[in-house]
Amino acid sequence: MPIDFAATKALFHLPDGVIYLDGNSLGPMVKTAPARVEKAVSAEWGELLIRGWNLAGWMAQPRTLGDKVGRLIGAERGTVVLGDTLSIKVYQAVASALDMNPRRKVILSDSGNFPSDLYMAEGLCRTLGGQYRLRTVAPEEAMSAIDDTVAVVMLTEVDYRTGRRHHMADITARAHEMGALAVWDLAHSAGAIPVDLAAAKADFAVGCTYKYLNSGPGGPAFIYVAPRHSEVARPALSGWLGHEAPFAFDLTYRPGQGIDRMRVGTPAVFQMAALEAALEVWEGVDLHDVHRQSLRLQDQFIKGVESRAPMRQLATPRSHLMRGSQVSFRHPEGYAIMQALIAEGVIGDFRAPDILRFGFTPLYIDEDDVARAVNVLAKIMDYGSWDRPEFKLRAAVT
Ligand SMILES: *Cc1c(COP(=O)(O)O)cnc(C)c1O
Repeated sequence: MPIDFAATKALFHLPDGVIYLDGNSLGPMVKTAPARVEKAVSAEWGELLIRGWNLAGWMAQPRTLGDKVGRLIGAERGTVVLGDTLSIKVYQAVASALDMNPRRKVILSDSGNFPSDLYMAEGLCRTLGGQYRLRTVAPEEAMSAIDDTVAVVMLTEVDYRTGRRHHMADITARAHEMGALAVWDLAHSAGAIPVDLAAAKADFAVGCTYKYLNSGPGGPAFIYVAPRHSEVARPALSGWLGHEAPFAFDLTYRPGQGIDRMRVGTPAVFQMAALEAALEVWEGVDLHDVHRQSLRLQDQFIKGVESRAPMRQLATPRSHLMRGSQVSFRHPEGYAIMQALIAEGVIGDFRAPDILRFGFTPLYIDEDDVARAVNVLAKIMDYGSWDRPEFKLRAAVT
C-alpha cells in the first residue's frame, strides 16, 4: 500500500510558519513524544524508582528498540543494540573489527566522512600504538584504494556534506575480496534510504537516531554486528552492561552473548522513551517509498533553485543512484544565505566552507513546502537580502 504522506505529516509537530529542511541534522518531534517522556519521568521514575529497571522494561529497551531500528536497516533480529553516542559506537565497531584482522594495521576512510568518525579512528590508532594508521582518500577513490594492507574499511554511506552515496554492497564485497572488514556508518541512511545490511554482508554498522529517526537531541546511537561475528567480536569498551552476567559483579570481564556485549553502561531512559514514540511512525512504512518520494522532492527543489536562484553549483550528484535524502549547493556566501533563509522560516543548515544543506524527509515535507522554500530562496537571492551584517555573525552551531 502506498504511504499516505499527509497522514504521516500529521504525526509530527512542526512550528507554525516553519519549513523544516534539516531533519538530516535533528529530526522534529513526533506529537506523542512529550506524553511518552512525561510518563517515563513521572509514572516510571517518579513512582517506580529503582523498580523501573524491571517493571518498566528500562533494561531491555536497548535491545527491543534495537530490533525496531534493525528492521529499518535490513538487520537480522537480535543484531542491533542502542546506547551511547555515535562517536562512541564508531570507536567500538572499528576497535572490534581491527581486533578481528590482527595482521593488518590500516583503517581506510574517505575525506567525505564526518570528522568525528575520523577523529575516533585516529584516537584509536594512538591507543593501539604506533603501527596503526588511518588512511583517508577521496570518496570516489575509496573502492580502488582497498588493498591488501587494509584491515578495516570505515565509511559513512551517505556523505554528510554533499549527500553523495557510496555503493555499500559493492564496496563491502571488494573489502572482503581483499581480506578487509567493512564498518558502515548509517547516520544519514537509517530512516532515509533503504538499507539491507544482511544482503550487503556488512560486518559492522553504526548510526544515530536523532537525525532521520527523530529521537530528539542526544538520542541514543546504535550498533550492528553481523551474526557471524557476534560471538567473536571483542568489545574494546568493555562496560558492565556488556558483561555476560552484569549482576554477578564478577571482578573480571566476560563478554555477554551476541550483541549484548556491545552495551557499555546505563542507558538513557528518557531518550529511549522519546525514541520509542518516534519509532511508531515507521509501522507499515517502506523505506523504498520514502526514498522515492524524497528523490521527487529533491528533483523539484533542484529544478526550482537552478531556474530561479543564482545557485548554480550543485554539490550533490545528479544520479538518483548516488543520492541519499539531502541536496547541497555550494555558494561562497552560503552561511549568510542560510541565516537569511532561517529568518524567513526555511530551516536548513550550513557546513563549512561553503555548503548549504537541505534535507528532504517526505514523512513531514511535501511539494507545497518545497515550492515555498524555492520561492523564499529566489526572493532572498533576487533582493540580495542575505547581505546584512547580522546574517554573517557565526553562531556556535551552524
Ligand atoms: C551526525 C554524525 C555524527 C555525530 O556523532 P555523535 O557522537 O552522535 O555526536 C558522527 N558521524 C556521522 C557520520 C554523523 O553524520
